[in-house]
Amino acid sequence: MNREAMIASIDDRREPFDIVVIGGGATGAGIAVDAASRGFSTLLLERMDFGKGTSSRSTKLVHGGVRYLEQGNVSLVMGALRERGILRRNAPHLVHDVPFVVPNYSWWETPFYGIGLKIYDLLAGQYGFGKSRLLSREETLDRLPNLRQDGLRGGVIYHDGQFDDARLLIHLLATAADQGATVLNYAPVVEITRGSDGFVNGVVAQDTESGNRIAIGARVVINATGMFADETRRLADPNITPMMVASQGIHLVLDSTFLRGDTAIMVPHTSDGRVLFAIPWHRHTVVGTTDTPIDGPSYEPRPFDQEIEFVLETARLYLSHPPKRDDILSVFVGIRPLVQQASASATTTSALSRDHTVHIDESGLLTIAGGKWTTYRHMAEDTVNHAIMLGKLADRACITQELRIHGYAEDVDEGDTLWVYGSDAEPIRRLARESPELGRQLDSQLPIIAAQVVWAVREEMARSVEDVLARRTRALFLDARAATRMAPAVAALMAQELGKDQTWTDAEVARFSALAAQYVL
Ligand SMILES: Cc1cc2nc3c(=O)[nH]c(=O)nc-3n(C[C@H](O)[C@H](O)[C@H](O)COP(=O)(O)OP(=O)(O)OC[C@H]3O[C@@H](n4cnc5c(N)ncnc54)[C@H](O)[C@@H]3O)c2cc1C
Repeated sequence: MNREAMIASIDDRREPFDIVVIGGGATGAGIAVDAASRGFSTLLLERMDFGKGTSSRSTKLVHGGVRYLEQGNVSLVMGALRERGILRRNAPHLVHDVPFVVPNYSWWETPFYGIGLKIYDLLAGQYGFGKSRLLSREETLDRLPNLRQDGLRGGVIYHDGQFDDARLLIHLLATAADQGATVLNYAPVVEITRGSDGFVNGVVAQDTESGNRIAIGARVVINATGMFADETRRLADPNITPMMVASQGIHLVLDSTFLRGDTAIMVPHTSDGRVLFAIPWHRHTVVGTTDTPIDGPSYEPRPFDQEIEFVLETARLYLSHPPKRDDILSVFVGIRPLVQQASASATTTSALSRDHTVHIDESGLLTIAGGKWTTYRHMAEDTVNHAIMLGKLADRACITQELRIHGYAEDVDEGDTLWVYGSDAEPIRRLARESPELGRQLDSQLPIIAAQVVWAVREEMARSVEDVLARRTRALFLDARAATRMAPAVAALMAQELGKDQTWTDAEVARFSALAAQYVL
């Protein structure tokens, strides 16, 4: 993926695109893959960097959602379990199986959760990841040596999927590009244009780097802007009735000693009636999340103090080595793009449906909102089916159930720090072999090498230090202080690749350091 080449392919185009997608998160990227692989001319425009919104800030689970089963939403869970299986088949380098243990401290918990998780297994059917089973107290402690021991009776083990969200996103965009789509970051849509018949017929985007405005024709415009969906709908019609509700969730990142091992903990009932996870991720421990209603969308939401206390308090109930504020290496916050229900009897955002909604405004703007990362492929299929009808496009069948995702590689070695790159790991290693300077690790706390920075600029359209440290690698999310230490080296490597001067380098380091300061307490 090369930004200059992407801009040239927009400039060179004389015909309208079949489909223009606004938004470069999971939803937009999935649609770009689906549309391009059906043979439609496709353009995706992202206002910031790909994944700057919610899609880099999830709990990193590819799951059916045990919680939704408890709410009785069987079809949502079944659909998501099916998508979980399809995603692992098409991206084995990015999705892996994690054992989860529900620790039991009361006599009734073992049969209760044991039966619930058996139903979860049954709903997965042929897409199952592994069978759930009851564990004795000893087996539970074998898997989770740091679990609080007093009162522990045993546990239930089940399996779910885990991934690196920002990395899957980049690989989806690369898949879309491999299929002929044009994808562009730092290109906000600033206008949605309408023809003499009143119907949407294109967009105006602005290239943030050059300042140029680009008018682009489209047979169908798809709004996949997540929490910003209403703002985007207003570009086509200022009088729309809003449909989005925002709620935020925080995650605390701790070092790996808090879990010690490859097994995650699932707490099915916190004091506020939610579930909480403690999950091993990139040799760290991620604990979360919360569900706090907020007024509206923003790119860098901040955690509320009571959210931090709540997650720490709940974790302390289960861990023998209780985490303190000082142990937190990074705090990241994401905003759920939830769709308001017309007959809303829901009083809390956690009770709002996680199903997706496809909505068409009178202007003909097609909006897709809600859903989950796990179900992005199914959401994309549904959206493109609607786009075909709306834009009278050729009726071509969806092929993404069988489409391998960029970097596809079987039997990846999870001990290898580059494993999430799949088949792209080898060219990165080659860079490091050819120039020992690029083989050097940038900080002792994180196994990230200089070659990854160069690769991110050359092949993954990274334009800023933040793009590299927050999303092409996950340094900011894993350890914000280590990421800050890495910033000068990353800026220098990027300046060389992008032909930037010392003023740019200094400004990038300052900007990133200010951002990273918000990820520590
Ligand atoms: C705390 C939390 C935990 C979660 N955990 C999980 C999980 O473990 N598993 C799971 O399956 N799901 C999870 N989810 C849900 C999942 O992360 C979201 O459903 C998904 O990421 C939403 O993607 P999106 O593309 O719709 O939105 P976003 O990722 O926010 O993307 C929208 C994009 O549109 C862009 N945009 C906005 N306006 C414009 C414009 N004018 N021009 C161009 N671009 C524009 C934005 O910059 C943004 O990048 C979680 C969500 C949260 C909040």
